[in-house]
Amino acid sequence: MSQESHEGGVPELGERMYALCEELFPICRSITGDGVRETLRIVGRHIPLEISEVPTGTPVFDWTVPKEWNIRDAYIRDPRGRKVVDFQALNLHVVNYSVPVRTRLPLEALKAHLFSLPDRPQLVPYRTSYYKETWGFCLAHERLLALEDGEYEVVVDSTLEPGSLSYGECVLPGDSTEEVLISAHVCHPSLANDNLSGIALATYLARALAGRPHRYTYRFIFAPGTIGSITWLARNEDVVPRIRHGLVVSCVGDGGGPTYKRSRQGSAEIDRAVAHVLAHCGRAGVKVEDFSPYGYDERQYCSPGFDLPVGLFERSKYGTFPEYHTSGDNLDFIQVEALNDSYRWISQVISILEDNACYLNTHPKCEPQLGKRGLYNAVGGSNDSASIQMAMLWVLNLSDGGNSLLDIAERAGIPFETVHRAASLLADAQLLTAC
Ligand code: ZN
Repeated sequence: MSQESHEGGVPELGERMYALCEELFPICRSITGDGVRETLRIVGRHIPLEISEVPTGTPVFDWTVPKEWNIRDAYIRDPRGRKVVDFQALNLHVVNYSVPVRTRLPLEALKAHLFSLPDRPQLVPYRTSYYKETWGFCLAHERLLALEDGEYEVVVDSTLEPGSLSYGECVLPGDSTEEVLISAHVCHPSLANDNLSGIALATYLARALAGRPHRYTYRFIFAPGTIGSITWLARNEDVVPRIRHGLVVSCVGDGGGPTYKRSRQGSAEIDRAVAHVLAHCGRAGVKVEDFSPYGYDERQYCSPGFDLPVGLFERSKYGTFPEYHTSGDNLDFIQVEALNDSYRWISQVISILEDNACYLNTHPKCEPQLGKRGLYNAVGGSNDSASIQMAMLWVLNLSDGGNSLLDIAERAGIPFETVHRAASLLADAQLLTAC
């Protein structure tokens, strides 16, 4: 597994993830409806995906699966009959979950239904109204200011009716029934970093794991934010006790960060594995933050009744970049290289989860003689032979049954992968046994 973790370094993978974002970008997603289904259908071309449809009205803990929303068209025509806001040009123009409307009204009355960003006058905001039945439009503030007085025609050709909520799951059985959960939300319309980047990374990670053996069972969840993860948890309480580690991935396509928000547990193995990878990733912008009950679906996985070891991996943190939840979060905002780096780091985290183990030094009284076992310069000539030598000394010293390889890597300040390679060499020489 450790060697395979390098495959995230190939640029073609970043290009493939970007291409998936491009394909998904135009679709008008929401927390329910055909946009989510179409998205899951496309993801399902790459990985085995089981789709669940949960009917409107289904109680899920303190929530209820909402009516299903679909939209065909929406626009505003000005007094001269010109379309001044057009859903067909950009799906962010309609407040997501807008109820159907067909009316004429004066500009002053229309303005109560218009949303813009005075501080970023060229960007169109992303707004939703899932739980209050209303309608609205979003537009650039400079466009709003240019609207003339008079009577406007407003059309939202949408439906809000009993239907179902859709989510997708890809389960990849491993040697163990213990699970690693990877979760990405699928409810944002044409926004690239916040949502599509996470979907693309999770899809290609699942694809890579499907093609090779692994210790853990991996469960990838593609669900609408909040209500989707709540619905999944409500229907899968029997699965929850098997989840050993988890990550929510979002905003992984921009060049910022990387940022990691720890699970509610704070020092779970996933928290330590991600912090370890980021400490050695060679980037200046690394941020590792404590848990807070705001953000993405880690809020549900880390609610006190579950308290799962699930953290949030991002590049730039949600809400901190000016493009966040606006038309600026488009395909120009995400980068092939950033997707590739994010993939590589998460792959390294998974390698740690897969390979972390506890060993016992079979010759604990004084240092065993490495030279007579051919373990001095065992990786002769390679650049990292010195660090392998040092890692062997650390592994031998700390393998008293009370330290895992991750404990050793943290204490030695040596990348996990080097510590793991050292442990493999020592185990091959019978200087370590599994404990
Ligand atoms: Zn969002």
